[in-house]
Amino acid sequence: MNYASTRDKSLSVTSAEAIKTGLAPDGGLFIPKEIPQLTMEDIEALVPLSYPERAVSILKRYLTDFTEEEIQDCAHSAYNKTKFETEEIAPLYKLNSGLYFLELWHGPTCAFKDMALQILPYLLKQSVMKTGETKEIVILVATSGDTGKAALEGFKDVDGTRIIVFYPENGVSDIQKRQMITQEGNNVDVAAVFGNFDDAQSGVKKIFGDKEYAEVLERNNFMLSSANSINWGRLVPQIVYYFSAYCNLLKNDEIKPGDSVNFVVPTGNFGNILAAFYAKEMGLPIHKLICASNENNILTDFINTGVYDKNREFKTTTSPSMDILISSNLERFLYHATGGDDVRVAGWMKALSEDGWYEVPDVTKAKIKELFYGGFCDDAKTLATIREENQKSGYVMDTHTAVAKQVYEQYKAETGDETKTVIVSTASPFKFCDSVLTAIAGEEAVSAISDEFALLDALAEKTELLVPAPLAGLAAKPVIFTTTCDKTEMYDVVSHMLNLS
Ligand SMILES: *Cc1c(COP(=O)(O)O)cnc(C)c1O
Repeated sequence: MNYASTRDKSLSVTSAEAIKTGLAPDGGLFIPKEIPQLTMEDIEALVPLSYPERAVSILKRYLTDFTEEEIQDCAHSAYNKTKFETEEIAPLYKLNSGLYFLELWHGPTCAFKDMALQILPYLLKQSVMKTGETKEIVILVATSGDTGKAALEGFKDVDGTRIIVFYPENGVSDIQKRQMITQEGNNVDVAAVFGNFDDAQSGVKKIFGDKEYAEVLERNNFMLSSANSINWGRLVPQIVYYFSAYCNLLKNDEIKPGDSVNFVVPTGNFGNILAAFYAKEMGLPIHKLICASNENNILTDFINTGVYDKNREFKTTTSPSMDILISSNLERFLYHATGGDDVRVAGWMKALSEDGWYEVPDVTKAKIKELFYGGFCDDAKTLATIREENQKSGYVMDTHTAVAKQVYEQYKAETGDETKTVIVSTASPFKFCDSVLTAIAGEEAVSAISDEFALLDALAEKTELLVPAPLAGLAAKPVIFTTTCDKTEMYDVVSHMLNLS
């Protein structure tokens, strides 16, 4: 199967080429030319399989230029007991007989980005080999917190690659920052950008789109690639866990084959929920995709009105991985929702970058409404949701997951829908320790503690959970990266790391 660009459907490249380059030459995103179909029998056949085996079955339908053996190699190298703290990889937690949490944070960085970023380096290495590429691959990442660390962990010491991560100086949690600035590895670099996530992201996008700079890199035998969720190699592994969750529901007799379920996804860049959309299009019985936002509720408005308008205040919230005003992967959805209208999609993206907004026509609005429910939740409600659930059942959610839980409650109150529902849990509560402890133990308890590692211990004590090993080990690690830069200086950071003249 080949891949086109959202802005030019006549383009046709292999999956290896799409994964290697990350972004299409016209600035669009790669999309599969067809969407593979699974029958209910195909899905039931996945039930007895392990997570990596389920992954192979889904990935091979998209990566048709890879051999099954190559995909197996990638999947088993990524999803195993040395990387993840549970053999299940993506366990389903049953809250009650209608509501489940799909816990995607048992990997090395305690957030769901590991699900894709543990396997991406293997897929990329294969892709580089397949396409006969000899240049060294430079991964540039803009992160709202979790991607950066997960990409660093995935790519550290991978031969033939370098990785440079930019994070917003004041847009990530203490733990997230600490995870990145203590990163080990001989091919890594990390810098803080003054500004918010969108500043970091647009800076990275600018470097990607710069033809002159690409030539300079090429002369030095480098080429850029992306580990952001615009890369197809990031997106396709995320489809797997939606199938896997459904299989676990079948396995545990929570549902019968063919029953529909809802998924609630705490959303930022629209990557995670887009993977759920692909799963639905592939034949997974999904009733509603519930898109949960924080106060940066641009997607809620878009789903409800069909107008995407980024001319609004950027808010810093307690769910920083969702503090985003430009949800890049929406472009892929728009392509599919318009039946592949590349001209229209290109026009909207141009309007977004020039005027900051666009509006889709009524047919597209109707399609969006049929598939999605959009809602948002502010910080106060997020913390209340964490506290109430903890008091009620003892379950501890991180802030992003709590946003999803709260939006689900809104959805249920509004629609009365009794369909069994899976909330996608995207981070360990320890990763956003400060907010979670504030919710559970109160502000005084937190203000009495001055250092972030003592906070981890306090949360562990309060919840009777263990601090996840990767976070517990952070305190002893030395700080390695202290570079800060302006948005305009991001080029210098890259050139410096690569020793460009
Ligand atoms: C990245 C992230 C999200 C948002 O996911 P998108 O794919 O960008 O929509 C939500 N929660 C957490 C914890 C994240 O790290």
